[in-house]
Amino acid sequence: MTRYTAPLTEFRFLFHEVLGLERYGNLKSFAETTPELFDAVLGEAAKLCEEVLHPLNIPGDRQGCTLHEDGSVTTPEGFKDAYRAYVEGGWPALACDPEFGGQGMPVTLSLALNEIVSSANMAFGMYPGLTHGAYEALHQHGTDAQKQTYLPKLTSGEWTGTMNLTEPHCGTDLGLMRSKAVEQADGSYKISGQKIFISAGEHDLTENIIHLVLARIEGAPEGIKGISLFIVPKFLVGEDGTPGARNAVSCGALEEKMGIHGNATCVLNYDDATGYLIGEPHKGMRAMFTMMNEARLGVGLQGLAQSQIAYENAADYARERQQGRALSGPAAPDAPADPIIVHPDVRRMLMDQRAFNEGARAFYLWVGLQADILRGDDDAGTRQKADDFLALLTPVVKAYLTDRGFRHCVEAQQVYGGHGYIAEHGMEQFVRDARIAMIYEGANGIQALDLVGRKLPADGGRAIFAFFGEIDTLIASHADKDAMQEFCTPLKQARDRLEQATMWFLENGAKNPDHLAAGSTDYLHLVGLTALAWMWTQMADAAQQALANAEAASEAPAFYEAKLVTARYFMQRVLPDSAGHLAKLTSGADSMMALPTEAF
Ligand SMILES: Cc1cc2nc3c(=O)[nH]c(=O)nc-3n(C[C@H](O)[C@H](O)[C@H](O)COP(=O)(O)OP(=O)(O)OC[C@H]3O[C@@H](n4cnc5c(N)ncnc54)[C@H](O)[C@@H]3O)c2cc1C
Repeated sequence: MTRYTAPLTEFRFLFHEVLGLERYGNLKSFAETTPELFDAVLGEAAKLCEEVLHPLNIPGDRQGCTLHEDGSVTTPEGFKDAYRAYVEGGWPALACDPEFGGQGMPVTLSLALNEIVSSANMAFGMYPGLTHGAYEALHQHGTDAQKQTYLPKLTSGEWTGTMNLTEPHCGTDLGLMRSKAVEQADGSYKISGQKIFISAGEHDLTENIIHLVLARIEGAPEGIKGISLFIVPKFLVGEDGTPGARNAVSCGALEEKMGIHGNATCVLNYDDATGYLIGEPHKGMRAMFTMMNEARLGVGLQGLAQSQIAYENAADYARERQQGRALSGPAAPDAPADPIIVHPDVRRMLMDQRAFNEGARAFYLWVGLQADILRGDDDAGTRQKADDFLALLTPVVKAYLTDRGFRHCVEAQQVYGGHGYIAEHGMEQFVRDARIAMIYEGANGIQALDLVGRKLPADGGRAIFAFFGEIDTLIASHADKDAMQEFCTPLKQARDRLEQATMWFLENGAKNPDHLAAGSTDYLHLVGLTALAWMWTQMADAAQQALANAEAASEAPAFYEAKLVTARYFMQRVLPDSAGHLAKLTSGADSMMALPTEAF
């Protein structure tokens, strides 16, 4: 009903001609992953996504997960075999530490894998996706013994992981958390409480599930500073490392929900379940943030991933569906009507999607590259800069890519007219699935607050000024190239608007914090737009260079020409929104906060 072709040519272009990954041989993960290997690995993953995961996307949505009387949960038909194939392919281990059985490949590559898995079947991709988040938290904060017990099994995919934050009365405000932990004589804890909305909380894919659970140790300080993180395995792990007795954690219900039906969203009840502290008492949020940072990039990709697959199908449909005539004269005079792709308004929707997908992919890969630099570069200054960029831009990847990704899924659905609204063509599923990515892993409004409240002012704004520096360097490097000015000029305008917004915040945010909060989403979108413009300028440059090189140009001139056309579209038809965001932001909070509560 729907089709998916992983955008491998796009990835190759970005890896080699835009990001120049060949230059990062100094990083351990890149030294062992040659550029050819990058392409080969992704090519293999694409086969699994296209041939195994994507065919299960619609059936998985229709069937959903099932909770049985004994509290067990079965995933949709075919998911178990697909998961086995995923594990046998070694995909869970891709970017994991070789010490625990991982392949030690770059984060950049694992993000690309995440994108294509998520396009093919978002609900399926969440089982290994959350596992990787649990792996990261344990890898960074676990004791040696904990790492030896859990990491090899999470790396191999024999076990999966979950993250348990949300409770019925608290999602964003985790300081209100009630789940409780009581220390035992042997140093373990008894965990009790209820967690809701837990993705992949119970399922039949693996022999064990490792829940990472936030709870408050008896007598801990109130609020966020009294929360600790615990490992709570579904089956307690014996001395020999195999699952033993069933722990006191059970699935009380599966949530009925709008999309991602193939992923089990569980109410989990902890009734004096045995748990083991990760890291220090009351420092659970720090460890959980490790997990959440990783997961936030993954969720950002989900927005783009749904937009990509929705676009591929919408473009096919627009070429086939015949309605009306082109205003400039019939394009298919022998047919009863022209294909709808001749209509400018249909083009607008397709070009919007395309310009976003390609720009957003370049952006997240660049951010992923910062994670690789942070992990592997010898130079402290270079690592510091990468860390700054990662901190600043992670909430932007999460929220900008999911806000826009959802919007573009709706546009792709619109291309189908009424046929997009009914289930037959599969377009409404993309819309339903994409919607959650704006909410979980910290709602997008909270990402915007994190950006302006924490990330922006950190170290006197060092990260945002470094970001301006990167853009200025790029613009300066093209100063004498006439052909680049149609890209550099709008990039400069957007960069200047972002600087004005930053300065406005500096002047007005301290006087009235509501000004900061009221403008936060506009600011986040302004950063997102500017980042994509920066990426599009680099892509346009790479395309111009390729076209000037007879060999590359003769291989794929249409590919590079299309890049330039799309870059132009982005600059002319998408980037001007940055002026609107600046105007809204600098109007401040007054009109937003003026109405009394009872007037709503
Ligand atoms: C399908 C699904 C899967 C999920 N998976 C998991 C999971 O695996 N693990 C897990 O722990 N949780 C999970 N969640 C929970 C999810 O992370 C939360 O729903 C989300 O963080 C929002 O919390 P909430 O629903 O309590 O909304 P609330 O916190 O009540 O927020 C409601 C609205 O108010 C806004 N808001 C709240 N506080 C502020 C503030 N201070 N300033 C400005 N705006 C504010 C929010 O942005 C939001 O728009 C999942 C949820 C769903 C639906």
